[in-house]
Amino acid sequence: MQAFQETSCPVCGAAEAHVFLKETNVSCSDYFEGVRLYNDDIGDTALVKCTVCGFARFRDMHAWTPETFRERIYNKDYHLCDPPFEEERPARLARWLAPLCEGHRLIDYGGGEGRTAALLRDQEIDAVAFDPFYSGETLPDWRADIVTAFEVVEHVPAQRALFSTLLALLAPGGVVVFSTLLQPETLAPDWWYASARNGHVSFHTPDSLGRTLRGAGADMISLSDEVHVASRDAGALERWRRVDPVAVSGTPRHAFVRAWAELA
Ligand SMILES: [Zn+2]
Repeated sequence: MQAFQETSCPVCGAAEAHVFLKETNVSCSDYFEGVRLYNDDIGDTALVKCTVCGFARFRDMHAWTPETFRERIYNKDYHLCDPPFEEERPARLARWLAPLCEGHRLIDYGGGEGRTAALLRDQEIDAVAFDPFYSGETLPDWRADIVTAFEVVEHVPAQRALFSTLLALLAPGGVVVFSTLLQPETLAPDWWYASARNGHVSFHTPDSLGRTLRGAGADMISLSDEVHVASRDAGALERWRRVDPVAVSGTPRHAFVRAWAELA
C-alpha cells in the first residue's frame, strides 16, 4: 500500500487522517438491494477525514475532472445504482415542496432531467430545473425565492464554490433547501452512504457543514440529519424551523459481512 499522503481539509485547512479503503465499485443501492450491482473489482479508493471539523472525502475522486466523472460514474450504467432518481424520488420531493412553495419561484439545482420541477409546474408552481450534468434547461435570468439541491452536495468536490453558486441564485430573503446525510458518530467502511460508485465523494459533520455555509456568508438549520436550509438572511430561516422534513434517502436493510462480496 502507498504511504499516506499528507493532505489538508478543503473546508477548514486542518490535517486529514486516513479512515478506510473501500472498493470503488460498491454502490449505495447494493445496501438496499442486498446484492452487488457492479461486480467488477476495479480497485479501492481512500476515504480521509479532517482531524478538526470532521469533513470526510474520497480524496482521489476530489481531483477528478467533470469528464472523468462522466466517464466513470455518470455513464450508461449509472441508473443501476440510483433507481429512485428516475421517478419515485422526484414525486416524493414535489409532494413535500408544493405547499412550501406556493407563491414562490423555485430553481431545482442538480435536478437531473428536471422531473421534480415539471411535477411542481403541474401544480402551478413557477419552477425550473438546472443540472450541470444534464444542462437540458439553462439557468433563468431571474432570482429564486427557493433554490433546492437534493442529492447534490455529497456529489461535489468543491463545497464552498457549490454553496456560493446556490446562494447567488437567490432573491433577497431567499433560502436554499438541500439534502445531504450527515456522518454517523463513527465512520465505518460499511457506512452505506460513503459509496463511490454513486459519485458520493463529500461527507459532512454538523461542524463542517456549518463552517462551509458560514464561509459562503450564510446561516443554516438542519430539519433532520439529511435535510437542511440555508440563507444569507437569518430571519428567512424562521418559518422553516417548523417544517417537517421529507425523507430523502431511506434506510438500507443490508450490510456487507465478508469484505465487499457478501451482503446479509
Ligand atoms: Zn476540516
